[in-house]
Amino acid sequence: MKSYRKELWFRTKRRREFLNITPQVQECLRESGISDGFVLCNAMHITASVFINDDESGLHQDFEAWLEKLAPEKPYSQYRHNTAENNADAHLKRSIMGREVVVAITDGRLDFGPWEQIFYGEFDGTRDKRVLVKIIGE
Ligand code: ZN
Repeated sequence: MKSYRKELWFRTKRRREFLNITPQVQECLRESGISDGFVLCNAMHITASVFINDDESGLHQDFEAWLEKLAPEKPYSQYRHNTAENNADAHLKRSIMGREVVVAITDGRLDFGPWEQIFYGEFDGTRDKRVLVKIIGE
């Protein structure tokens, strides 16, 4: 069995952004030389997510609007967590959108369903943050 590990670094310009990281994960898979197994991809921070969905027009704005309804960023005073920092909403948004994804690898490819893409969801950005890519298989 082979094992591969890599950290992908991101620094978004805005507090909240969604990035399609499928090309980077595919590059990791190519580097690993693994053709059959699993890839785990997880945010290494508790205010960011990795999730799978479609890269469809309007969908990211819909996620943004939906998450703002569930856990609005402001007013900051509505959250008990917001004393030393103002990112309670980001912790909550990350919990909803999830920490990680696992994708099967078959014949050297990410074995996606139709339209599936891997996204990094940033909810408290403008600083360096990481995603772990771990691949095991043969
Ligand atoms: Zn916090």
